[in-house]
Amino acid sequence: MTKADWPIIKVVLPADLKNVKPGALPENLLRDVQPHGRLHWRAADAYHAMRDKALADGIIPFKPVSAGDTYRTLQAQTTVFLQRYQKQPLEGAQTRTWEGVKWYKKSPTLASLAAPGTSQHNVGIAVDIWSASGPRFEWMLKNAVDFGFSWEVVPEEPWHLRYVAGDNVPPAVQAWLDRKKAV
Ligand SMILES: [Zn+2]
Repeated sequence: MTKADWPIIKVVLPADLKNVKPGALPENLLRDVQPHGRLHWRAADAYHAMRDKALADGIIPFKPVSAGDTYRTLQAQTTVFLQRYQKQPLEGAQTRTWEGVKWYKKSPTLASLAAPGTSQHNVGIAVDIWSASGPRFEWMLKNAVDFGFSWEVVPEEPWHLRYVAGDNVPPAVQAWLDRKKAV
């Protein structure tokens, strides 16, 4: 597959996220994911279904980069944003608009970050996969869509998957849920 083939699918949010403030999800919408982090419960099911297939296919480990690369509270997103972006204009720097103000990335070597409250990590549907390159990335390209995940910006963020299926549980996730129930 070439980069032009990376699937970018529009996000449909689960209905129970519609009136929730980004970065302030109620605890009952969040689930722990293996081996670290938290996601919205629909995304968590899909992630675990995808992870089990990856591990069965020999893609080991298959995990978020860190707990901070799953659901992020508004406070966590703000902390990292302020580490990477400044208000002081910087020629040629990447910019973000946050609450009507333009911010400049402090250095091109820093990873980009969405403004607080605007990231899909803030609604618990985005997960950054550890070491998304080589065979692991090839596996993701072939399989992530089956589990309701796709990319947001390519090719800059191969690790950043977000759950796009809303309340329409993908067949591969439903099969995983049914197997889990049967055990
Ligand atoms: Zn991400």
